Amino acid sequence: MQLTKDEFKKKLKNKVNIYFEEELDEASNSELYTALSGVVRDGYAPQWRRTRISEADQGQKQVYYFSIEFLPGTLLKTNLLNLGWLDTVRAALSDLGLDLDKIAAAEPDMALGNGGLGRLAAAFMDSLASTGYTGNGNGIRYKYGLFKQKFVNGYQKELPNDWLKKDDHWEVRRESKSVLVRFGGKVRMVDDNGWMTPQYEGGDVVRAVPYDTAIVGYRDGVTNTLRLWDAEIPPEEELSYPTISDRRRIEDLTSILYPDDSNYEGRLLRLKQEYFFVSAGLQSILDYYVKKLGNKDFTKLPDYVAVHINDTHPAMAIAELMRLLVDEHRVDWETAWDITLKVMSYTNHTIMSEAMEKWDTNMLSQLLPRIMQIITEIDRRYCAYLNGQVSNDVIERTRIIKNGQVQMAHLAIIGSHSINGVAALHTQLLETKVLKDFYNLYPDRFNNKTNGITLRRWLQIANPELSDLLDQTIGKDWRKNSDKMLNFEKYYNDTLVLERINQIKLDNKKKLAEFIKEQMGVEVDPNAIFDVQVKRLHEYKRQTLKLLHILKLYQDLKAGIDHPKRVVIFGAKAAPSYVFAKQVIKVINETANMINSDPDINGKLKVIFLENYDVSLAEKIIPAADVSEQISTTTKEASGTSNMKLMANGALTVATMDGANIEIADAVGEDNIITFGLNKDQVYKYYAEHSYHPREMYESDPVMKKTVDALTDGTIPNCFSEGQALANKFLSDNEQFFVLADFADYLKAQEKVEQEWKDKHSWAQMSLVNIAHSERFDVDKTIERYAQDIWHLKKLKVEKVDH
Ligand SMILES: *Cc1c(COP(=O)(O)O)cnc(C)c1O
Repeated sequence: MQLTKDEFKKKLKNKVNIYFEEELDEASNSELYTALSGVVRDGYAPQWRRTRISEADQGQKQVYYFSIEFLPGTLLKTNLLNLGWLDTVRAALSDLGLDLDKIAAAEPDMALGNGGLGRLAAAFMDSLASTGYTGNGNGIRYKYGLFKQKFVNGYQKELPNDWLKKDDHWEVRRESKSVLVRFGGKVRMVDDNGWMTPQYEGGDVVRAVPYDTAIVGYRDGVTNTLRLWDAEIPPEEELSYPTISDRRRIEDLTSILYPDDSNYEGRLLRLKQEYFFVSAGLQSILDYYVKKLGNKDFTKLPDYVAVHINDTHPAMAIAELMRLLVDEHRVDWETAWDITLKVMSYTNHTIMSEAMEKWDTNMLSQLLPRIMQIITEIDRRYCAYLNGQVSNDVIERTRIIKNGQVQMAHLAIIGSHSINGVAALHTQLLETKVLKDFYNLYPDRFNNKTNGITLRRWLQIANPELSDLLDQTIGKDWRKNSDKMLNFEKYYNDTLVLERINQIKLDNKKKLAEFIKEQMGVEVDPNAIFDVQVKRLHEYKRQTLKLLHILKLYQDLKAGIDHPKRVVIFGAKAAPSYVFAKQVIKVINETANMINSDPDINGKLKVIFLENYDVSLAEKIIPAADVSEQISTTTKEASGTSNMKLMANGALTVATMDGANIEIADAVGEDNIITFGLNKDQVYKYYAEHSYHPREMYESDPVMKKTVDALTDGTIPNCFSEGQALANKFLSDNEQFFVLADFADYLKAQEKVEQEWKDKHSWAQMSLVNIAHSERFDVDKTIERYAQDIWHLKKLKVEKVDH
């Protein structure tokens, strides 16, 4: 739909008049944001309605992406871009003396996720709509998103992120689509005309109310729905005068996002959340199937519905769909199981055993007695079926209920027709190591789907200058069809283009330098190497290795050994209960203070740890990065996606051969990436033989010794105990993240960075190759593979509406 500047100005003025009784020149940025989002909502509303009508008319198969996290960031610019309005609106606002970026800054960042997993879910939403598939998100409307991070004396403090304090302008409360979800109590099976039917006694009933957000597809895409559920007191109970504490007990259910993606706590509440959004989502799917599509024959459900389980948090969907089919719709068990298998598919996101979800059977029985019965029956039939076909050991290793615990990954695998890993290496490790037994049982269910990123956001929105350069060189088609980005390689020897790449990077670095100055009061030189590591703080991601490199550089500079100017930039939140990760933050912050204020260093090295890493901050940092640190312990990072965002913005990757780094190396070629470190076989050998003895390395390598000693010898002020904790960990026998094993090789990789930095021309060439080949990680390609191989979707035909 086209929009002219004048039309837009009129619409905006009108909204400001109506909403605020004001003229444009009186309105604050926050008011302008509200008015502008109103104009945008009016813009996509007809298309959103039209998509839903077409879906129903065409009986379109839809995928429902179940995820306990969604991390969309902000939506204003995305919606403008996808409507095709971004340039017009920016120009029209500029005519009015207004700045889109300032207005957009008033939007709260929607951080309903911890990191990569939630960001992937949000990227998939955007991509499904943009590629023309009908896909809906299903999740939780947390009142408080992921905590807001502050540093106080170098320590992380967690503050509530009250993102709904000002109304969210994108969501629509859909009260008529509310459903009830039951917890606790007792269940008894009674014979009702020959059908064993559950009768419930006691327990809590919670009302799940959906809030829908439109997901606008890019240009001629469709407009899909992200449905997030809120917990409320059911209307019947409103009549019995619930106390404030009754009310709070129920509303607390959707109050906070568990601030960790690899350890679980507050376990009971977490379990409640998982069942809550799974049950609500499936009920609304079946309601739609029965009422809107007029279907009673549930054997046809897989022709209309695919449910995707993003990691194991929604794996109870398998048992819940069985419950709904068998108990509510009286489908016999075998038929219901056949339907469930065809409907469900599952993505595994980790190989780390501590991150594999397990629930105590006692807890599950108390909270969800009927679900526990159903899981027990699934497990019983699984074991009975395999009995005699495979060894008892295999059955014992793979069954769902073991040692008084329900293995959620096993439930997810046994109840899904597709199980995918998120990068080639990760899938290979699932098949050959972690889920080997299952792979032998069900080889056809396993497949790889390497993660992808929303290039629209990371290039068109975050880096408009680079996007313009692509337009001017290869034409605009890349914006719709990312394959075209490969044509950028034709400019490999074009000095003007290479200079433009460097100039754009410098401009972005200047902007980030200003932001750093505002936020932290620290000056950084935009001509220095901007060396970036942004991601959750975790031992396996090894911010520790970067810290050791910083200490090495510091010691060199103090000793008069020169290095090119460098600014190391971190962004990372630690889970509040993750003691070691918080110690790392403290040590990095104290190291930063020490180095940034040392007159001997004189600005040759700066360390900047920006607070509160989220999508909005990522959009500022990533376009300004020269170096991308992807230095996880090999085998531990399932895929990584910041590696892809950074390459798309022309950063040079320093990488272990882990996760999707391997595929990046394959795409750009070995001359355009710097790799180092243990390979997977070396890692597994150490694990198998218990033969990693870092103290021996430390004793025999004086450079390593001197660097590690800086943590404990009082070099870094104010963090003695934390420094000690880090050093002890690095030196402990069979330390599982191999920090010191990779230290020497990492220093070499960084020397290579310094060598390459000297030649700006060849650096720009590497940048150019990275930008061109980031097309491989366009999330639209990932989504096409899910749609073809797993969900079996067709594209929706939507009549265009133009008003
Ligand atoms: C992309 C992204 C991540 C994931 O980063 P990894 O390096 O893949 O762990 C985490 N948080 C935010 C805000 C992101 O944008």
